[in-house]
Amino acid sequence: MSKTISILGSTGSIGRQTLDVAEQMGLRVAAITARSSVDRVEEQVRKFRPSLAVLTDEAAARDLAVRLADTGTKVIGGPEGLLEAAVLPEADTVVTAVVGMVGLKPTLAAIEAKKRIALANKETLVCAGQLVMDAADRFGAEIVPVDSEHSAIFQCVQGCRDRREIRRLILTCSGGPFYGMTREEAGRMTRADALRHPNWTMGPKITVDCATLMNKGLEVIEAMRLYRLPLSQVSVVIHRQSIVHSLVEYRDGAVLAQLGTPDMRLPIRYAMTYPNRGESPAESLDLLTCPPLTFAQPDREVFPCLSMAEEAAEAGGTACAVLNAANEAAVELFLAEKIGFYDIPRLVALAREQVDVRQDPALEDILAADAAARDVVRARF
Ligand code: NDP
Ligand code: MG
Repeated sequence: MSKTISILGSTGSIGRQTLDVAEQMGLRVAAITARSSVDRVEEQVRKFRPSLAVLTDEAAARDLAVRLADTGTKVIGGPEGLLEAAVLPEADTVVTAVVGMVGLKPTLAAIEAKKRIALANKETLVCAGQLVMDAADRFGAEIVPVDSEHSAIFQCVQGCRDRREIRRLILTCSGGPFYGMTREEAGRMTRADALRHPNWTMGPKITVDCATLMNKGLEVIEAMRLYRLPLSQVSVVIHRQSIVHSLVEYRDGAVLAQLGTPDMRLPIRYAMTYPNRGESPAESLDLLTCPPLTFAQPDREVFPCLSMAEEAAEAGGTACAVLNAANEAAVELFLAEKIGFYDIPRLVALAREQVDVRQDPALEDILAADAAARDVVRARF
């Protein structure tokens, strides 16, 4: 059970909900970090009184230091600040709620410092899952997933003593805002259309990933790494209502699922209270009034990113780092309205073609693959 937490990415969707949970649970907040959101961080410092606040943007950090001169909170600027926040001795738990590959080094640092990792930052596991999981084993650090599907699976495997008894994991997928569209219709969708998710309010990058289904592809890889299972044992089913958060099928045919209202504070809270459960103000699930639960196959032709992620998972080595980096760079361009919806899979495919895959990669190989993939995408614009 967590008592003192540091939050990497405290101003984002997961970060703010984590602070809500911390307030409800009476947890102490030791460190908070963001990129450049000065106003929000100042507000959070005045409310939660952490020992450390980090802004990776140096100019924003200088501004913050002036504003916080009357508080006891130390301010650090620059990306190294994330590492300092990740290893702060007073915290027992680090919530990784930054978006993207920037989360990798701080997550590894927190693991080495033997913190509990409440892991929201899926890109880290996608790029370097093997390294991260091996490090967690070596240092005895717990990784508790915050992503709702992986939290569901984590909850469903709590009674499982032998992982070989798992036949498969079934990840549910809302289908995103473009569910049911043809390729022509989806191809006309803009940034504003993609940012309208039916069930969840999240940061812009993951919301676009939900529209392309790349998010589900990244989650398939995340599940493979967390539970050390091959692709053949991880499947995806469309479930529009986001009430069944994921399922585990066992060898004897028993299927365990975790259900609940779509509220990220539930998995965040569980990552804090694990292995126990606490009272939560989240709305109860009413089976009698909730919509009928439906399940369907994902449309891999309209949403090619899902199969592309699975193919990268099969290729192994640095292939997933390339996929992820190209996707991050392409989504940035889509959010800047410089490319269209299907340019995202097109650019990811281009990077996968052009960047060589290296097996059994060290951290430097992963960082190099990440940089090479971003270069391929940026060279086009
Ligand atoms: P947001 O975009 O809402 O927040 C991102 C946070 O990271 C902000 O605090 C932001 O600071 C900070 N940040 C962004 N870029 C950088 C950078 N380059 N260096 C340092 N800090 C940075 O994202 P979400 O909260 O939606 O998602 C966070 C992670 O959690 C992602 O990996 C996502 O896939 C995962 N996740 C999110 C879910 C959700 O419901 N939102 C569900 C499941 C997983 P600033 O405000 O200054 O820009
Ligand atoms: Mg998810």
